Amino acid sequence: MNAPAASVPAARGRHLPPSPDRPRSITVLGATGSIGRTTLALVAERPELYRVEALTAQRNAAALAALARAHRARLAVVGDPAAYRELAEALAGSGVETAAGEAALVEAATRPAEWVMAGIVGLAGLAPTLAALERGAIVAIANKEPLVSAGPLVLETAQRAGAVLLPVDSEHNAIFQALAGSPIETVERLILTASGGPFRTATLEEMAAATPERAVAHPNWSMGAKISVDSATMMNKGLEIIEAERLFGIAEAAIEVVVHPQSIVHSLVAFKDGSLLAQLGAPDMRIPIAHTLAWPGRLATSAPRLDLLAVGRLDLEPPDPRRFPALELARRALRRGGAAPTILNAANEVAVAAFLARRIGFLDIVRTVESVLESLPDTPTGSLEAVLACDREARRSALARIAGGPPGGHRGEEG
Ligand code: NDP
Repeated sequence: MNAPAASVPAARGRHLPPSPDRPRSITVLGATGSIGRTTLALVAERPELYRVEALTAQRNAAALAALARAHRARLAVVGDPAAYRELAEALAGSGVETAAGEAALVEAATRPAEWVMAGIVGLAGLAPTLAALERGAIVAIANKEPLVSAGPLVLETAQRAGAVLLPVDSEHNAIFQALAGSPIETVERLILTASGGPFRTATLEEMAAATPERAVAHPNWSMGAKISVDSATMMNKGLEIIEAERLFGIAEAAIEVVVHPQSIVHSLVAFKDGSLLAQLGAPDMRIPIAHTLAWPGRLATSAPRLDLLAVGRLDLEPPDPRRFPALELARRALRRGGAAPTILNAANEVAVAAFLARRIGFLDIVRTVESVLESLPDTPTGSLEAVLACDREARRSALARIAGGPPGGHRGEEG
């Protein structure tokens, strides 16, 4: 079992909340994404509390340049070198330094910001996240794929450097808040809530015919395309079980999932004395992000307030393993351990991209992941290079399966 890296009471004393006298320097990795923009929108509400060191994107140079100017960032980086010229031109004369490439993303994370938002999507965020952790920063981690794929490495790096990992995912942020520093030994179970996604009440036939447009249309949350598809398959909840095991150091069997369609209760902690503590709020990522931006303090925000009487009722139901096999698949990968979560994550990233490109049907996503997971042997994942090698192999295997035709013969409708 891992040490509970998310609950780092020891680090509390070393960090003060941001204040006008002592603004917090921040870096946002994945600044042009859903998490990144929400983070910067919160910063724009309280500019006297923050100073922006570095912002990154992959190829959206125009949006990155606009954010870098608006927030007077010191450095703006695009991961894709082909987008560099556009970035440099857009920021000419602004005083913002510019750079491009994978090494420059790591350099952005290495710059001396006290607080870093890990908001890149996919395992691409691993190296920059490790770079931020290695210098002992407060890392607000939205980017769940590195935790799933390289959990032990991420946690060891954080612990060795005395870094603080703050969970941004609304469920894990809720657990972090409900724990309030209580040792994990006092906890009986963690209960992750799941909205059930756009196909909560759909039949398997409807799911087989689902288009990318339908799959990304989440009923409660507005998010990037990849996590929206993960929510639709419920692989997102599977990844979150693994994420919770990593962050809180609790056994897989003690992590429960309940479907809660209103997305009001963001998750719960069941303590050994019978107490059940939950964090509630409107389904709006401003709330968990604000919690990490101000940690160990609190930020007054414009996020919507929850009107419990207007909500009226809170529904809870068990997940359906027949229509959402991703949940059990992720549990299996976690129990198997070793390279299995790395393989699961890589195959899922490839399968989701193939679904969004209309190359496979919706139900083929989890079938592809399962067949890759079943076919690849365990390999070492103790170092960054080892994780990346295992990840590459699993991607190759997933791509080969997709090129060879959908495993179950189901295809999504075009259009
Ligand atoms: P988006 O797709 O909206 O944004 C992704 C960001 O990462 C963009 O800035 C994008 O740049 C950048 N990016 C994409 N590919 C690469 C790459 N290969 N190298 C470097 N940067 C890259 O994603 P989200 O904001 O939705 O999600 C970000 C992470 O947070 C994911 O891991 C997700 O699971 C997690 N998360 C998201 C939530 C949400 O509400 N959105 C909730 C909880 C967790 P560009 O714009 O140039 O492509």
